[in-house]
Amino acid sequence: MSHYAIPAPRVVELPVAGNDAVFPVRRVYCIGRNYAAHAIEMGHDPNREPPFFFQKNPDNLDPSGEFPYPAHSSDVHHEVEVAVMLKSGGTNISVDDALNHVYGYALSLDMTRRDLQGEQKKMGRPWEIGKAFERSAPVGPIHPVSEVGHLDNGSITLKIDGELKQEGDLNQMIWKVPEMISYLSEYFELAAGDVILSGTPSGVGPVERGQTMEMACEGLGAMTVKVV
Ligand code: MN
Repeated sequence: MSHYAIPAPRVVELPVAGNDAVFPVRRVYCIGRNYAAHAIEMGHDPNREPPFFFQKNPDNLDPSGEFPYPAHSSDVHHEVEVAVMLKSGGTNISVDDALNHVYGYALSLDMTRRDLQGEQKKMGRPWEIGKAFERSAPVGPIHPVSEVGHLDNGSITLKIDGELKQEGDLNQMIWKVPEMISYLSEYFELAAGDVILSGTPSGVGPVERGQTMEMACEGLGAMTVKVV
């Protein structure tokens, strides 16, 4: 056993539905503009260009059901997404083999300080300050593939205080889950504990303190997250 010079960082653990085991997180990848209608609403061409990814930090994932409104922004947006949890990884994973590496799926939110992200985009700078902030990825319980199978279609929605804001279908993803895994594995070494946020349908917009976000997806149930 190593003798740490400082207190060891905690392993981020996420709950698994119907199981007392927890899922330990290694890395978090997020795909950008993976639904055509969302690419259009953000002012981009929805044609199938190569996918692009950014990262959040493992401890940005938060299963608590509360989202603290972050500092330094007055335009924080919701992006409801399906999170894909890997049980194994590797490099140069084929599309045909990719789903064999998936442990399960969960509802998640890619919360975004849109004003800060916009400033960074304008200057051609990285997005971290807009994307990878504390508790920026609320996440629901993980549903194992052994229970729910693989999710490649079905409605995904987000309501705020009961009002429908985002609505799409998983079959509208430009890059499907196996393709995302395969593509990422060409550029990174994937491993057990990696999480991939698979993009958001159209209808993104601001949240305010006191509001309740309700996300739902066929096969994953629903989860509410309160903005505090
Ligand atoms: Mn997103």
